[in-house]
Amino acid sequence: MKFSPENYKIKDERMKPFIDIEEIENFLEETKQPTADDVKKVIAKSLDKNRLTLRETAILINANTPELIQQIKDGARELKEKVYGNRIVLFAPLYIGNKCKNNCLYCGFRATNKDAQRKTLSDKEIIKEIEALEDNGQKRLILVYGEHDSYNPDYIAHTVKLAYDVKKGRGEIRRVNINAAPLDIEGFRTVQRSGIGTYQVFQETYHEPTYQKYHLSGPKKDYNYRLTSLDRAQEAGLDDVGIGALFGLYDWRFEVMSLVRHTNHFEACYNVGPHTISFPRIKDASGSQVDEKYLVNDEELVRIIAILRLAVPYTGLILTARETAQVRDEVISFGVSQIDGGTKLELGAYAASLNEEQNLNKEQFAINDDRSLAEIVEELIEKNFLPSFCTACYRLGRTGEHFMEFSVPGFIKRYCTPNAILTLTEYLVDYATEEVAAKGWALINKEINQLEDAKLKEQVSEKVEKIKNGERDLYF
Ligand code: SAM
Ligand code: SF4
Repeated sequence: MKFSPENYKIKDERMKPFIDIEEIENFLEETKQPTADDVKKVIAKSLDKNRLTLRETAILINANTPELIQQIKDGARELKEKVYGNRIVLFAPLYIGNKCKNNCLYCGFRATNKDAQRKTLSDKEIIKEIEALEDNGQKRLILVYGEHDSYNPDYIAHTVKLAYDVKKGRGEIRRVNINAAPLDIEGFRTVQRSGIGTYQVFQETYHEPTYQKYHLSGPKKDYNYRLTSLDRAQEAGLDDVGIGALFGLYDWRFEVMSLVRHTNHFEACYNVGPHTISFPRIKDASGSQVDEKYLVNDEELVRIIAILRLAVPYTGLILTARETAQVRDEVISFGVSQIDGGTKLELGAYAASLNEEQNLNKEQFAINDDRSLAEIVEELIEKNFLPSFCTACYRLGRTGEHFMEFSVPGFIKRYCTPNAILTLTEYLVDYATEEVAAKGWALINKEINQLEDAKLKEQVSEKVEKIKNGERDLYF
């Protein structure tokens, strides 16, 4: 697009802050104590594959009785099964550096935390980490950075290229996502040119007074700059973006409404919703100072995920190792589409001795699920979930993989399930123990048998054989 004063004007209009506290509070107020019928209608609308309005989302949030909550959970489970099936996409986070000039009171990396041991991985160390991740079978990474002048767009782009270039044995990284500070339009362009998948920026809390309370100094203090960050990404042509809120800073009801508002905003301005939504909960961090008033318990987290699943049925929902294995297992069945596996948050820990104790001073926060990728793959298979390392959409230019799954009839059967089968085949051949492989082959045979299209069945079986014979990176 050519830059002209006219275009700037349009951009300014789009990039206006869009969270209106009063509007959200009014919706929450006027939908208090919804009837069973109200809730049923909203769930039916979502099951019909429609994104919910703010008012409808508020109805689900205000459904407080055990019966209504159960209906919402059942609805979310049905939607997840109907639309996405049993695949779970696996990825790993890789922390590149924890230098940070911000002062987020909940984070172990914040500038005033004198106990934090600061480190930025050297190129050599990054390569070692990625080799270790590839040795485990990972194919999808999210690179994470503090906010610091040395983690500028050129540096981020450099680390992305580095990640794609590392090939160890049969391993390679096929999709690199980013979680880093907001950039300006030019910065987003630079990073996009390096070939990233999704750029994530979490607003942490959409409630501005609370935001000011938790962000004491540094660039992140500017609420509006962060709120409009992914609009700048869109302007830069980077339309694969991930939003999120850090649950526990303010009332979860307000944050869920705001995530839906953020989604509406993208749809209205760019005709494309966020690719993913994340909902980390506050975890213990070195020296963190968080008011306990709004901490979210397990039951509330389950409600949050079920409501988000119904409210924005077409996005990927990401759950991370911040949660215990038990919570993760529970929520996967009714909403989550991506989880991380074998996560280590300590800088340099993938390549280091696997038995080292967690060191909170080198981590951003403590993780609660320390299962290895192999254990997670095994458990998913045992529970009849199909682990997927698929990156086909991104590599074929089919942006918005979750949107495709949702909106294109038959897409999952034609592409996603076959590609999950093929990437799991690679994993079983290259990385799995005999025991896990045996369970995996049983699942793969079952999945192939369930494919309805005879020709596709044949094509998938052929590709599986080719992978067994040494070919790699086959997809539909
Ligand atoms: N520095 C960048 C930023 O703040 O956006 C990106 C990286 S930051 C390490 C990634 C995310 O970690 C933050 O957006 C925040 O939501 C989350 N986080 C920070 N402290 C946390 C804590 N104590 N528990 C759970 N999540 C936390
Ligand atoms: Fe820095 Fe991000 Fe941590 Fe804030 S959340 S202190 S910006 S690393």
